[in-house]
Amino acid sequence: MSETRLREAICRFGRSLFERGLTPGSSGNISVRCEDGGWLVTPTNASLGWLDPARLSKLDAVGRLVSGDKPTKEIPLHSAVYETRGAAQAIVHLHSTHAVALTMLPEIDPRAALPPMTPYYLMKAGQTALLPYFRPGDPAVADAIRGLAGRYSSVLLANHGPVVAGDTLEAAVFATEELEETAKLYLLLRNLNPRYLSPAQVQDLVSHFGVELPAETHDHG
Ligand SMILES: [Zn+2]
Repeated sequence: MSETRLREAICRFGRSLFERGLTPGSSGNISVRCEDGGWLVTPTNASLGWLDPARLSKLDAVGRLVSGDKPTKEIPLHSAVYETRGAAQAIVHLHSTHAVALTMLPEIDPRAALPPMTPYYLMKAGQTALLPYFRPGDPAVADAIRGLAGRYSSVLLANHGPVVAGDTLEAAVFATEELEETAKLYLLLRNLNPRYLSPAQVQDLVSHFGVELPAETHDHG
């Protein structure tokens, strides 16, 4: 996709996410890899609701600002995701209410923040990791992302929000929406003893649709 089209797509998806209340105020950010090796990023303190295609931050391959406004302070977060997930072409980070709420619950498994509730959650967002709290813009979040070794396309930052990678911007946006809706379902059903997908049903999705889930690891050292 040409850079002009990518710029327009970032603004269109940003407005859509903002207008549906999926990230308030000037929260959230989006980045996309460009064909020239650089990337486009939403500027710092910019609302996703009214981005200007011409003012998006254009960074070169090593993350230096080439044109546009000053980029989001979450650059270390985005670059660590690209570094560890070679296939990722776009990243969406929101402050969406239900996903943020989920991160504060005591029972959340940091290697599977949500149970297998629906097929589309698994097909779009895979399994979701939960990272501890970091001050926004703290470069230490990059080390925590590297610690996941690229095994998760969707990650939750505690008390903050989701970070989702996709092989297109559309895929990253749709996966973020699926994660938010599944977090909402989890909160609706919490303590009601719901039936989740069984291991056999999950396995069927893995073999039928090629869903990639992180390998089960019980050694967290
Ligand atoms: Zn944020």
